[in-house]
Amino acid sequence: MIENTRQPEGQRERQPKRQPKRQPEQADVVIIGAGFAGLTAARELRQAGRSVIVVEARDRIGGRTWLDTRLGRPLEIGGTWVHWTQPYVWAEMKRYGIGTVQSPVPETAFWWADGKSHQGSPEQLLNEIDASNRQLMEDSRLYFPEPFSPLAHLGASDIDATSLAKKIADLRIADYSKDILESFWALNFNGPIDDAAFTQALRWVALTNGDWKICFEACATYKLQGGTLALLQEIAAGSDVRLNTTVVAVEHDENGATIKAADGSVFQADHVVCTLPLGALPGVSFEPPLPDSSRKAVSDGQVSKGTKAWIKVKGTPQPFVALGSADWPLNFAQTEYEADGDTILVAFGPDASRLDTTDLVQVQAALELLVPGQEVLEVASHDWTADPLSGETWPMHRPGFLSEALAAFQASQGRLFFAGSGFANGWGGFIDGAIESGLEAARAIQDGSLA
Ligand SMILES: Cc1cc2nc3c(=O)[nH]c(=O)nc-3n(C[C@H](O)[C@H](O)[C@H](O)COP(=O)(O)OP(=O)(O)OC[C@H]3O[C@@H](n4cnc5c(N)ncnc54)[C@H](O)[C@@H]3O)c2cc1C
Repeated sequence: MIENTRQPEGQRERQPKRQPKRQPEQADVVIIGAGFAGLTAARELRQAGRSVIVVEARDRIGGRTWLDTRLGRPLEIGGTWVHWTQPYVWAEMKRYGIGTVQSPVPETAFWWADGKSHQGSPEQLLNEIDASNRQLMEDSRLYFPEPFSPLAHLGASDIDATSLAKKIADLRIADYSKDILESFWALNFNGPIDDAAFTQALRWVALTNGDWKICFEACATYKLQGGTLALLQEIAAGSDVRLNTTVVAVEHDENGATIKAADGSVFQADHVVCTLPLGALPGVSFEPPLPDSSRKAVSDGQVSKGTKAWIKVKGTPQPFVALGSADWPLNFAQTEYEADGDTILVAFGPDASRLDTTDLVQVQAALELLVPGQEVLEVASHDWTADPLSGETWPMHRPGFLSEALAAFQASQGRLFFAGSGFANGWGGFIDGAIESGLEAARAIQDGSLA
């Protein structure tokens, strides 16, 4: 059962009016958040015979994946691409018979380096940074020989304290390559690389056996047939999801957990799984409080506070990919769909506060830097960073998060468990990681070792 009393997305965040006190509802497990992590955990626990309630603040399932109709067609406002190197999402796709649709292959590339714009083939652009990126990533399997055990080989190394910007600065490469490399990683982090953990980049590339090009392919090549919603609906089928219910407090002790919502509803359970993004955790109080390392991570937040925008431009330019400077409001764009004689681009920028995507003049100026001569007609986007239910885009860590906070989030706090793509072992930041973490949380509860 998925209750759906729809409200416009912009009005659904916090529910100010408290309802009269109600009887607490009971379940074996309450899961907070109906994204991929929460819905996967719910399915697993339900299939194992537990009663489960999923409590979700939005008026829809999916969290940071959101297939919506915009610019006259279905568009993925959040997470989009999946890949055959991602075992958890791939297994789910096979389970439900969902295939992939390939994004168009670009024919031209534009890039910015050494203070100048350049144009060539997409292969040329990739090859411009191949040597330097291989050098940067050469230790990915040294630190992450088992990429799904990210803490196993860090040892006493201080590698996790290092920022990606520092590592790039230490490479002896020409400014030309450095400019492209910095922008490539600002794109991957959807944020400034000064704050980005070098280990997070190494983890990503270790997952494709040290091959950064395959890692990049994983990020933006294959979409889900029917969109992310098709897979979500399969995973969610049969789950009891309470939409429009914003959790504000979680209390737990050796006897169980109490989950309180802003509308006055209360849930009691033997266990609670919290799948909130790091950036949404300030909205919930925990009693007992979270460990110091977790609270520090919440207060620091993730690096990823950028923009994803779908931009309709006039006409049908030759399919292109464009990579600008790391500090531009949009530093990446590629052609994605043809739309009645016009073209829809997908674009990213590293700092959502620097681009108001509702202002066509601003978007036009940002795009003009990347690809000159495109006329912007319409834009569709969602500000995930300003949204209190996410507070970030795809979770990308700061230096220190991995060694100081990940283990605390992955361990149970008594009857409280965390899941979510920010706390995954493998493809942290991806749909795959969200599914992995949901499976892990469900298994930990099933094991009973933590009951
Ligand atoms: C713009 C963008 C592009 C991305 N691109 C890709 C991509 O191409 N490929 C890929 O694999 N991944 C991508 N990702 C990442 C991917 O979407 C996420 O990692 C994944 O969907 C996270 O799932 P989750 O269940 O861990 O968290 P979420 O999906 O964030 O789920 C958490 C849920 O908790 C709910 N919630 C928050 N606060 C409360 C509260 N107080 N009470 C109740 N409910 C609450 C939220 O509404 C949400 O539904 C992208 C993300 C974004 C934002």
